[in-house]
Amino acid sequence: EEVLVQVKNIKKYFPIKGGILKHTIGHVKAVDDVSLDIKKGETLGVVGESGSGKSTLGRVILRLLNPTEGEVLFENQDISHLSNRKLREYRKDMQIVFQDPFASLNSKMSVGELVEEPLLVQTSMTRSERKEKCINLLEKVGLRASDRGKYPHEFSGGQRQRISIARALALNPKFIICDEPVSALDVSIQAQVLNLMADLQDEFDLTYLFIAHDLSVVKHISDRVAVMYLGRIAEIAPKKSLYDNPLHPYTQALLSSVPSTDVKNRREKIHLTGDLPSPSDPPTGCAFRTRCPQAHDRCAIERPELKHRGEGHYVACHLYK
Ligand code: SF4
Ligand code: MG
Repeated sequence: EEVLVQVKNIKKYFPIKGGILKHTIGHVKAVDDVSLDIKKGETLGVVGESGSGKSTLGRVILRLLNPTEGEVLFENQDISHLSNRKLREYRKDMQIVFQDPFASLNSKMSVGELVEEPLLVQTSMTRSERKEKCINLLEKVGLRASDRGKYPHEFSGGQRQRISIARALALNPKFIICDEPVSALDVSIQAQVLNLMADLQDEFDLTYLFIAHDLSVVKHISDRVAVMYLGRIAEIAPKKSLYDNPLHPYTQALLSSVPSTDVKNRREKIHLTGDLPSPSDPPTGCAFRTRCPQAHDRCAIERPELKHRGEGHYVACHLYK
């Protein structure tokens, strides 16, 4: 399979300033050495608690943030060190849909202006071509041509997310980062928006990186799933392998709290004790050890590397060596 995006040893550290002179007194290691490939046409789900680094990783991949170390390749081209001018060529190929369509859509712009703005800025299309494209996009996302003259506040949360999706599709992107696009929506609306995104993926040959904070949201849409903990990948695997045979104790705990109607996959609930440690002062050795029911001596000393366990299933845990 063809790889569209390659993430190579990405680190993103944010300085912590302190004292009267605002010196750098430490770093938040938001993303701490992440490598992964995203194949053309797939959906890679990325799951983690807030503070796991999943959104920061998404922003580094799109170069909305510069990495501290490492590189991102898009169609084999290193985009992490391109000048802003050169980066503009790639911008149209890579889009993002944010969690909160209230915050991400300018309330003073009409739906037509919102969807056509990227066309105005990035293409030489005429006004009538832009209008036609906009109407076509609105219909693709389940809105009406007559919605073009309305404003975001006239729509429900789910419809607003459809507007964001239409805007993201305007420049015919190849890759879309979906950053918790349904988390702010009512549960009854979530499935509709997820189904829409899956249909659009097939129709427009899109590749998705789909960020979520729990494993139930990404279950249907993902081909593979990565679980992040404190800036690192704990486990990454094809969907079926991850849900049927989770190897990392953290994944096992997350899955035990996903309601399952499937008797085979029903698990005893594992309660994680303690809070997520601070990413500015992560535990030595395995970052998960302060909450891991299976932590042992070695876990405090040695950081587990991500190891291949067969058929594309990787886990970072000393239980498997
Ligand atoms: Fe738990 Fe140790 Fe595995 Fe970390 S390495 S997940 S602490 S068993
Ligand atoms: Mg798919």
